[in-house]
Amino acid sequence: MRNVTQGKFLLACSVCFLIGWLLGNGRPTSLLADPTPSKKVASLPFPMSARLGGNLYLQTSAEYRACCRGIYKCAELRLETALERAVAKLTKPAVVMDLDETVLDNSAFQTFLYKNDLEYTDDLWADYEENYPQDVTLIPGAKPFIDRAEALGVAVIFISNRSEHYKKSTESALKRNGIDAGNSAGRLYLKPKGGTSDKSARREAAAAKYNVVMYFGDNLRDFSESFQAAKLTKDATPEDYLKAIKQRASSADEAACHWGIDWFVLPNPVYGEWEKLIGPDPTAVLHPTSMKGKVPAP
Ligand SMILES: [Mg+2]
Repeated sequence: MRNVTQGKFLLACSVCFLIGWLLGNGRPTSLLADPTPSKKVASLPFPMSARLGGNLYLQTSAEYRACCRGIYKCAELRLETALERAVAKLTKPAVVMDLDETVLDNSAFQTFLYKNDLEYTDDLWADYEENYPQDVTLIPGAKPFIDRAEALGVAVIFISNRSEHYKKSTESALKRNGIDAGNSAGRLYLKPKGGTSDKSARREAAAAKYNVVMYFGDNLRDFSESFQAAKLTKDATPEDYLKAIKQRASSADEAACHWGIDWFVLPNPVYGEWEKLIGPDPTAVLHPTSMKGKVPAP
């Protein structure tokens, strides 16, 4: 009887191994062929598995689409009003837009990471950015807004931390989605090799050439470096994280005169500057509750 049980166990292990092997070999091969595999760090406070809900929201909820379209429609109406009410005709009016998760939807990259049990690395992102422009789609409402802005004679400037080195791929992603990248000279500010993710200098360069009337982003650093998350040390306590979260929230509140007027934020529940303040224990920064309901026994 014992031998029969052991035999069944070994058979089950063999079947599991075979299924695992087949599944592993059925993965998309090109990104996985990257010689620099993603580091899977078990102790990450916000691992890829925790981002699944955010990515599902982006990809499947009609609510997300409605939200983005509402933001862009509001911006369109604001732009028309701003141009009409200008005391004198604005010379070289422009809007500045971030690309990733503001105009371009890269949620398929997140799907790749999740399905292959990988964590984000710069190398994997660089591979996606360079070689998969065909996987990039559009954030709902972005294209109608861009079309309307251009029809109003407003230049659309893109400031992105995509790499200058892969400019052709980014132009391809834009072109595939019907955004004129052939005329991007002077309108596409990417991150130069060795450059910083701080967009301030590029915003200033755009402002020197154009009369910028609006900014768009999914990360508050698309608007100002004052929203950069505080850099906390390894021995920071949950109270330190909560203090930094409150400081950042206060900064957003202090800029209330901009939101929906000349600064427009697109939701990104998957990644962003905000995640830097989650800390090693995500539950420690959640709002407490006074609820005393019965907790079922485990
Ligand atoms: Mg972005």
